[in-house]
Amino acid sequence: MHGTISHIDTGEAAGGVLTIDCGALTDNYRLLRAQVAPARAAAVVKANAYGLGALDVVPELIAAGCRDFFVAHLGEALELLPTLREAHGTPGEAEPHLYVLNGLMPGSEATCAAAGIIPVINSLSQLARWAGTAAARGEKLPAVLQFDSGMSRLGMAPADAEAIIRDGLADTLDIRAIMSHLASADEPDNPQNDDQLRVLRAIAAAFPDALVSFANSGGAFLGADYHGALARPGIALYGGAPTAARENPMRPVVRLDVRVIQTRSVPAGARIGYGGAFVATSPMRLATLAVGYADGLPRCLGNRGAAWFEGVRLPMVGRVSMDSLIVDASALPEGALVEGALVELIGPHQSLDELATAAGTISYELLTQLGRRYHRRYR
Ligand SMILES: *Cc1c(COP(=O)(O)O)cnc(C)c1O
Repeated sequence: MHGTISHIDTGEAAGGVLTIDCGALTDNYRLLRAQVAPARAAAVVKANAYGLGALDVVPELIAAGCRDFFVAHLGEALELLPTLREAHGTPGEAEPHLYVLNGLMPGSEATCAAAGIIPVINSLSQLARWAGTAAARGEKLPAVLQFDSGMSRLGMAPADAEAIIRDGLADTLDIRAIMSHLASADEPDNPQNDDQLRVLRAIAAAFPDALVSFANSGGAFLGADYHGALARPGIALYGGAPTAARENPMRPVVRLDVRVIQTRSVPAGARIGYGGAFVATSPMRLATLAVGYADGLPRCLGNRGAAWFEGVRLPMVGRVSMDSLIVDASALPEGALVEGALVELIGPHQSLDELATAAGTISYELLTQLGRRYHRRYR
C-alpha cells in the first residue's frame, strides 16, 4: 500500500483511535440470546447503533443470527435497508425485519409500506392510518402495537386494547407483537418493573395470538417473566452494563485511545487551561491530549476525569477544551510520554461505565456522543 495512505489507515492523522471489537459484539448478542431463550433476541441499532456505526454493526449481528432490528426513526430504517438486504442475501433463511420505534408519522405510510418496514404503532390515529393503508393496498401490513404500561412516553393507553379488539381496528393488519418499554429495568428491585409487567400481561391477554416484546437490556436480566417472546437489547450489545450496581456480564466492545500532542513541565503556581481552572501546587509534568468536547468528551470531566497509560492514572487538570485536554503525567517517569503516544480513555483500566460515571452521565450518552473525528477500527 502507498506509504501515506497506510499512515492514515493506522490513525496518525486522527486525534484518537476508536476500536470496535466485533467479536465481543457478537459474543454479547449470543449471551443475550441465551439469557432470554426461548425468546428471540432483536438488536436495537438506533442512533447509528449507539454511535458505533449501524452499517458495520448490522451485518455482524445478521451473521450471528439476529433477524430483528429496531431503530427510532423511519429515516434510520431507510438508511439501513440496503445493508440489511445485502448482509442477509441467503434465500431460504429467515428474512431480517426493521422496526421503527418512534411510530408512524403522518405522510410516511406509503414509504413505510413500500419498503416493508414495520412501524411500532403508538396511537389510535397511527393505527387508523396504517389499517387504512393496508385496506387501500389490499394487503395485510405488519405492525407492532405498543402500549404504555407506565412510563408515559410512547404507546397507546391500556384501555385502547379493548377497543381495538371490539371494533376490529387492527383487522387489516398482521400484528407481529404487542410491545411495551420498561422505565426502570436497570434497577431490579424497583417496584415499577412489577407494576409494568402486570399492566402488560392484562393487555397481552386480549391478543392471545400475538408475541410479546418487553425486555430491553436490563429486562433481559430481570427473570423469565420479563422476556416475552422478543427481547430488544441495545446498550448491553455494545458492552454497557445492563444492570446498575451489579457486575457487568457483557464483554467490552469499545476501546478509545487518544494521542498525546504535547508534553511540558510546569512550576508550582502555573495556571492550567482555560480560566486557569487548575493551578499547579507543585512542579508538574503535563501532557496535552488530542480529544475535547467536540469529540464527545463531556466538559464536566475537567478536573475530574482521567486517562490511563500503562496502568498509571493520569488525572485531567483544568477544563476540557474543544479539541484537547490536559492530564497530569507527573506519576510517570520523565520521558515516558512522548508526542504521538496513545493513552487510554476507555479500555482495560477504565470501562465505558466508569468514564460515564466520572462524567455524571450514562454509557448511552457517552457512546452516542462519540465524535466523527476518531480513526475507527473494526476488529
Ligand atoms: C432504546 C430502546 C431499547 C433498548 O434499550 P437498552 O436499555 O439500550 O437495552 C429497547 N426498547 C425501546 C422502546 C427503546 O427505546
